[in-house]
Formats: sequence, structure tokens, C-alpha cells
Amino acid sequence: VTVMGHVDHGKTSLLDYIRNANVIAGEAGGITQHIGAYNVKLSDGRHITFLDTPGHEAFTAMRARGAKVTDLCIIIVAADDNVMPQTIEAINHASAAGVPIVFAINKIDKPAANPDKIKEELAQMNYLVEEWGGKYQSQDISAKKGIGVEDLMEKVLLEAELLDLKANPNRRATGSIIESSLDKGRGYVATVLVQNGTLRVGDIILAGTHFGRVKAMFNERNQRITEAGPAEPTLILGLNGAPTAGDTFNVMETEQEAREIATKREQLQRELGLRTSKRTTLEEIGRRRAIGNFHELNIIVKGDVDGSIEALSDSLIKLSTEEVKVNVLHKAVGAISESDVTLAAASDAIIIGFQVRPSQAARRAAERDGVEIRLYSVIYQAIEEVKDAMEGMLAPEIKEEVIGTAEVLQTFRISKVGTIAGAIVREGRIKRSCKVRLIRDGIVRYTGELGSLKRMKDDVKEVTSGYDCGLSIAGYNDVQEGDLIEAYEEVEIKKTL
Ligand code: GDP
Repeated sequence: VTVMGHVDHGKTSLLDYIRNANVIAGEAGGITQHIGAYNVKLSDGRHITFLDTPGHEAFTAMRARGAKVTDLCIIIVAADDNVMPQTIEAINHASAAGVPIVFAINKIDKPAANPDKIKEELAQMNYLVEEWGGKYQSQDISAKKGIGVEDLMEKVLLEAELLDLKANPNRRATGSIIESSLDKGRGYVATVLVQNGTLRVGDIILAGTHFGRVKAMFNERNQRITEAGPAEPTLILGLNGAPTAGDTFNVMETEQEAREIATKREQLQRELGLRTSKRTTLEEIGRRRAIGNFHELNIIVKGDVDGSIEALSDSLIKLSTEEVKVNVLHKAVGAISESDVTLAAASDAIIIGFQVRPSQAARRAAERDGVEIRLYSVIYQAIEEVKDAMEGMLAPEIKEEVIGTAEVLQTFRISKVGTIAGAIVREGRIKRSCKVRLIRDGIVRYTGELGSLKRMKDDVKEVTSGYDCGLSIAGYNDVQEGDLIEAYEEVEIKKTL
């Protein structure tokens, strides 16, 4: 189980409460170790394992690496607040993964709490809770006082029963890496979650490009154990390196076999660079459709205002045909974030930005993971391109190419001339002849042309990365400190066959 929700709505408090109370069983020795996951026993003897890193970012990052460690999500919403943007994000991340949701309406001990208002807001998003006749279970709780937490666990188990989760303890273990690190005294330690089979001390384990014989195992109470079965998290010693969270692990017959595969993987990784898989791009769609393996187009829509996001999403969904279904996994106002890119990577989606830009971190992540980000300033153009792509005839003839960005450090008002920005070129180059966009907080505020470009007092044709310059935007004076000026050119792209 993973707990997700808006910041400050009580994810950590709920996990802490469950960990400390060990809920109902009243077993001696609370859980003091943070090993990335923990297992609690309920009064009727059943167990639930919680991932100790709450939040949908961690959840989707794991998923992007191929791990399916979560069977069920608790989405927590504070009853003295509202359904917030990150609540919606969390819901969409869970839905994109096809993981069922149980809602926890938190902080009901607070006088200002109004759980019904939250349920109404959820209903408006088509998430109708059970007590209102819908299919989503929800429980009013106070994570701080422990009110309703036991009932919440019951509902989680009820939901889990419907999933009919099964595993076979009588086979060699497989599972996922939850966390790993280098410990001064103990060497490499990794928390693993067994998902099938039973892991034992002495087993030879292979995870990503690392392997080793399990020397010792500990549970979340720091007790030595000798074996761990399905859904049991355990800290293991004995690996020859630190695998990445989300890597899957297998138990191998011999150490030699494990070493061979680890070496081969390492080679492959080196050859492929960091790009491990080819993700969907609009241009890929035509080819993949032709060979008959394209049936769903997943899209994440980010935009500057709610109205355009809704309009764009609706139009995109309506492009669905019998052969290709268009899904909008997530839509929200704001700059394209790293978490959007992670979701796209995990769900093989493309990101469409309308009048918004990716953050630096998001841009880097997209490059690394091969996620396509398409930026538009005209709704109609976005729809046309996606439509063309779906019909397998995307061949843009004029494409915008960003050639550089500058950051505004200072502004000066000069009468009769307007606002001059003192800026530094952060990336690429700014050319006098190029077109520019003014971006504030990741949102495009203005698109136009440069009015002037100077170094010192001289007009120049271009300024390159790392240099200061003075510039003005023709017909636009509301330049502010901290704004980004993005320079772009329109280039012709040859049609490719
Ligand atoms: P997170 O950001 O979602 O992990 O939220 P936290 O668990 O850190 O909680 C944020 C704040 O809300 C903290 O100050 C908690 O003490 C408080 N809080 C969490 N749950 C409850 C609750 O049930 N009742 C009250 N009164 N406060 C709570």
C-alpha cells in the first residue's frame, strides 16, 4: 500500500501512526527502523505492507523503472482543506497505474473539518464514495489521534480481497528493490520487497547489474530473520553494489550465473547509454500503427489556464477512433514538472504543453528518459498535429526550434524607449533576428520579436551563453526580474519517409 495526497494533508502522520501503534495487534516493540517499507499485523492476523516513502512522485518513479510494488493506494485528503492540485495528481497517477484507491478523509478532529465537502468535491470529479452510492471506499480519520484508522485498514483489506492477490511461497523469490545504500559498517544494504516466492539467507540474488549471496536479513524491527515470504519487506546484506530503487530482483541458481547476467546487463547499459527504452513520440505513431501495435495514445496536458486545458483535453479525447484510443492521463494548470515526466515515462505517454514550458529538471528528465514534450501556442495546431500523427501522416514542415534562453536580472525603464532588460544568456544563444517568448513561472506571457539586443552599448547580432546583454521586446514593456526570455527560430523540416 502506498499513501498519497497533497502536501500537509497527513501522509506522514498516517504512516507514523500505523507504524507506532502497529495498529491493532499490540505486538511488543514498535517499528523504529526506517527501511523503506514495513509490515503490520492486524488483530485478525492479517498483514498489510506499507511503503514508507509516501507520495505519488516516488510511486511513479518506481513504476517507471518497471516495479509494480503497490497493489492499492490510500489517497489522503484533509477535511479542513480542499481537494488540491496534488490530490488530483495523486489520483491520476494511481489511475494511470490501474491501482485501486481508498480515500482517507483526514483531520476530522479539527473543528473546521468538513468531510462532506471533500466527498462532494470528489463526486464532482466522478469519484463517488461508497456511502454516497459510488464505488470508492472512503473513511473519515484522524491520523493524529488514530480515529478511524482501524476501519481504514479494514477497508483496505476489503478492497484487497476483491483484487484476489496471490503468490506462491514455494518457489525462488522475485521482487523489487525499495531502497539501497552503502553502510559504513555493513557494506551495501538494500531493502527488498518479496513479491513471489520466499527469500532466504544464503540465496544468490541478482538485482539490476548487481548480485551477491544474502549474508543476513533483518525486518523493520531490526530483528534478524532467516526468510521472507510474499509481501514481506526485508533489509538484506551481501550485494556487491547498490541497485536502483524500482529494480526487480531474482534469485539465481549459481553465483556464476548471477555474475554473467549482471555483467551482460552492465555491458548493455553502457552500449545503450542511459536510454533504456524507446518511448512513444508523435512521429513514431504512424510507423507503429503500420505494424499494428499501436492502440492507445496516452497524453498528459499542461496549460496556462483551466479553460484551455479542458478544451484541449476534450478535443484530444474526441480524436479517439476505433483503432486508437486517446487517453488523457492527467491535466493541470502550471509548468511541466518532473513528476509529469515521470508519469509519462511510466505510462508511455507524451506531454502536451499549451503556453507553458518544462522546468529545467523536467527538461533534463525528459531527455534522459526519452519522453516527448510538445509545446503549442495554438490549441487548434495541437489537435491537428495529434490527429495527423494518429492518421500516420505527421510531417511538420515548419517546426519551432528553441535556440537559447536568457534570464532577466534587472530592468530599466527608459522614457520613449520602454523597458530594457539586463539579462544573462543561460543556454544556447540569443539572436537579434529570432522570435522570443517571455516566460514567467513556467507560463508563456508574451510571444513576439526582439526590439533591440546590445552588449555594453553596442548593437549586436547575437549573444552566446554565459554573457550579459541588454534587450527589449518589441511592443512589450512588462518585463520583470526573474523572467526567462526564450529565443526560437522557425526551421523547415524535411519530410521523412
Ligand atoms: P504530509 O505532508 O502529507 O506528510 O503531512 P503530515 O503528516 O506531515 O501532516 C501535516 C500537518 O498536519 C502536521 O502538522 C500534522 O501534525 C498535521 N496533521 C496530520 N494529521 C492530522 C490530524 O488527523 N489531525 C490534526 N489536527 N492534525 C493533523
